[in-house]
Amino acid sequence: MNRNSRSAVVRRLLLLVSGCLLLGLITGEYAWALVIGLAVHLGWTLRQSLRLHRWLQDHQPDEAPPDAYGLWGEVFDSIYHLQRRNERARGRLQAVIDRVQESTAALRDAVIMLDSQGNLEWWNQAAETLLGLKTPQDSGQAITNLVRDPRFVEYFERSQYQEPLELPSPMGGNRRLQFNITQYGNSEHLMLVRDITRLHQLEQMRKDFVANVSHELRTPLTVITGYLETLLDNVESVNPRWLRPLQQMQQQGGRMQSLLNDLLLLAKLEATDYPSDNQPVALEPLLQAIVADAQVLSGSHAHNLSLEAEPGLRIKGSESELRSALSNLVFNAVKYTPDDGDIHIRCWSDGEGVHVSVRDNGPGIEARHLPRLTERFYRVDSSRASHTGGTGLGLAIAKHVLMRHRGHLQVQSRPGHGSTFICHFAPAQIARRA
Ligand code: ADP
Repeated sequence: MNRNSRSAVVRRLLLLVSGCLLLGLITGEYAWALVIGLAVHLGWTLRQSLRLHRWLQDHQPDEAPPDAYGLWGEVFDSIYHLQRRNERARGRLQAVIDRVQESTAALRDAVIMLDSQGNLEWWNQAAETLLGLKTPQDSGQAITNLVRDPRFVEYFERSQYQEPLELPSPMGGNRRLQFNITQYGNSEHLMLVRDITRLHQLEQMRKDFVANVSHELRTPLTVITGYLETLLDNVESVNPRWLRPLQQMQQQGGRMQSLLNDLLLLAKLEATDYPSDNQPVALEPLLQAIVADAQVLSGSHAHNLSLEAEPGLRIKGSESELRSALSNLVFNAVKYTPDDGDIHIRCWSDGEGVHVSVRDNGPGIEARHLPRLTERFYRVDSSRASHTGGTGLGLAIAKHVLMRHRGHLQVQSRPGHGSTFICHFAPAQIARRA
């Protein structure tokens, strides 16, 4: 209440009291005159509050408040202006919401809002075409009931959404979808689904090209290395000047063959999402065999290889794929650790699954290389790699095999303090003990 209205109220009250006193002077009944005056004032106040109450309850959106004067007039006007201001603010907010909804509805990517339990709250038009959601029947349904692919259910429930998930469309056809989930607010989920069919086809063409080229190169290379071998077997009939070039050609031919084999293996691993054979693989004997091979590879370099394996551990998967992945890690340790170095292989299980670690006390790897280590042909030091005879594909193969076995590769390393490569397999991948 401002000062003007306050003094008007005081003036009016003084007027009322003076009127009552005047009436008292005329009639000689001061008390009664005051009582009557105050009763009239109270009645008027009650009437105004009843009018206000009626107007608040029944008024139409734009209906002005009833006329009143004095303090009540100001109260009516203030409430009216407050309401108008709120309505304007609500209108502005509604316009923003409408624009956001219109623009997301026009998006070609599906936008889906889920509550903290994963139940559908809101989605745009594209979600209906890409995932087959139905408005309004599906509102409140769990997303895992509508997108039932086990890989999606597992991805959603693991709540680790750093990497997007790619899956065939649940609507069938050749469509391929990419799912991106972001958590916000009170563990609610915002899910974006993109149609990446075209990208997937291009990627497929690239993979097919590499696989076809590798396959086609294999035969001519076998012929060339075969002849080289024959020539070197008959060393006495070869001009001694040609001996060294022939040996080098044979060595490089061998490298090319391992490169083609690795490229073909990668192409095979990329062709499907899961290993075709899903047998229990006993880890201890597998690691023993790999350590024996590593001992042969180490030869005169005399590495100290040791194995500590929890007996009876078995994981579901493909033995040949696991053998390639684990032997790549152990052979790398042999290749990159200087003579007499220590290499320790350990295999154990706990509440988080099964783990296999390969630790060496070799040169170690700088932190900046670690995120890129599993990229194809990525090498920390190309001069070091060239005389180890590596293809640059070993860790890419290991990463792929692990992904296909619900696992992942962790690399811990510091220059000068050796490296540890750890394979983690999810508990769901453990096969019951023999
Ligand atoms: P490569 O065939 O060259 O060994 P990989 O994919 O197996 O290819 O390894 C990628 C790179 O990672 C290697 O070139 C090497 O620089 C580095 N690396 C792998 N394992 C080790 C290790 N145990 N110690 C040091 N560096 C390693």
